Amino acid sequence: MTARVKKGDIIQVISGKEANKGKIGKVLKVLRKNEKVIIDGINIVKKATRPDPANNKQGGIVAEPAPLNISKVMPYCNSCHRGVKVRYERANGKVIRKCAKCGAVLEYK
Ligand SMILES: [Zn+2]
Repeated sequence: MTARVKKGDIIQVISGKEANKGKIGKVLKVLRKNEKVIIDGINIVKKATRPDPANNKQGGIVAEPAPLNISKVMPYCNSCHRGVKVRYERANGKVIRKCAKCGAVLEYK
């Protein structure tokens, strides 16, 4: 477990393809089983789709984000302005995530 992220988190890509590195985006989906995440606007691939008349869809090329390995992203800290390691703390019976560097609570809306 390197980077614990969940849907809706803002993350920064810290390794991997040069084109994606350093990019910041919102987690659209976490694929727990294969430890991957799909991030809005990052790792865009073009996919050819078949027309699907039953669903009124035209065939063609669509650009969509492809899954990235979860170890390549870190939760983004607004104070540090970078992807950071996370520290877990318990407060009022709730587990909160804090930036391991500056202690800011990591919350994303
Ligand atoms: Zn921080």
